[in-house]
Amino acid sequence: MKRLVLLGATGSIGVQTVDVVLQHPDQFEIIALSAGRNIAKLQEILADIHPKQVCVMKESDAAALHETYPEIDFVCGDEGLNILAKRDDYDVLVNALVGFTGFMPTLCAIQTNHDVALANKETLVVGGELIYKALHEHGRKLYPIDSEHSAIFQCLQGNRRSDLKRLIITASGGSFRTKTREELKDVTVEQALAHPNWSMGAKITIDSADMMNKGFEVMEAHWLFDVDYDDIDVLMHRESVIHSMVEFRDHSVIAQLGAPDMRLPIQYALTCPDRFELHQDAPLDLAEIGTLHFEKPDLRRFPLLGLAYQAGRTGGSMPAVMNAANEAANLAFRQGKIPFLKIEDIVISAVYRCPFKEVKDVNDLIEANGWGTKYAEKVINGEI
Ligand code: MG
Repeated sequence: MKRLVLLGATGSIGVQTVDVVLQHPDQFEIIALSAGRNIAKLQEILADIHPKQVCVMKESDAAALHETYPEIDFVCGDEGLNILAKRDDYDVLVNALVGFTGFMPTLCAIQTNHDVALANKETLVVGGELIYKALHEHGRKLYPIDSEHSAIFQCLQGNRRSDLKRLIITASGGSFRTKTREELKDVTVEQALAHPNWSMGAKITIDSADMMNKGFEVMEAHWLFDVDYDDIDVLMHRESVIHSMVEFRDHSVIAQLGAPDMRLPIQYALTCPDRFELHQDAPLDLAEIGTLHFEKPDLRRFPLLGLAYQAGRTGGSMPAVMNAANEAANLAFRQGKIPFLKIEDIVISAVYRCPFKEVKDVNDLIEANGWGTKYAEKVINGEI
């Protein structure tokens, strides 16, 4: 029996994690979980899952929920997330939070000697170096939930790490993969949210449409697998059937394929090296698909992908600024405050204008995150 703490239970990955847990009730137990503001969804989950502790965003929600569920200990806010992560009665933290908010709970879990199954890629984008150090210091493991990184992780099983030549991360190209930059000028939020292959949360779907997400995944792969940026390639593959590949020094390429179903990487992160049954309505049928396509990414078409390589190589405060500016710009686009292409403008100018600083501790990250957020908000509000 593996005991889990699940952060972000009401989001897309959270709900699918609950599904995996309910498919194997003799294998997994959720000790504690967090939800944001979606209290209706939380109550649906609490009908099936009986945690000891629950974290919600607002104090008023925590107080009201306590009346209905007196047996559960309710905590709230960012500090509540850290309280859950620091519990001493669980095995793996499943971090399905969105954004920089996910960083501190990951660090808290590792520092209190827990392994982490990570869907929150911003943790590694922003604070990869600090997480990398903490993992080594505490002898803990990070299991990837992102589909590309789960694919790479699976391809590496049974092979020698020293034989690895490069990683090949596949990219669908998101909702606008066939549009020119001219056509991108007046795309709508609804169009951006209609991803052709994957059903995901709103923030990541927008990040996929401008390929910031793929840039983040390159950085995530760098820290997860300790591979140099020169040895991480992105390959456009519109069908999202091959979830990623690895090439070894003899040029043998190993790929992992599957239907676009996040429950597979979620489950593998929790069971590896074992594999459990997974019920899928439409498992992969290659004869049905017939043809797979591949092409090189166009960095002029998707400048944020190139920017992520640059920010990753530079390091220091730059990745945190890039992420913070993107979080603010992504949200502003979803709120209808800025056009789609303005997201890129904001993120690129934030990275070029930010004062470079070394990152020695969490406070340096918080400072860089604050700078990026403030800069983006000023541009969004027309102040600069
Ligand atoms: Mg992914």
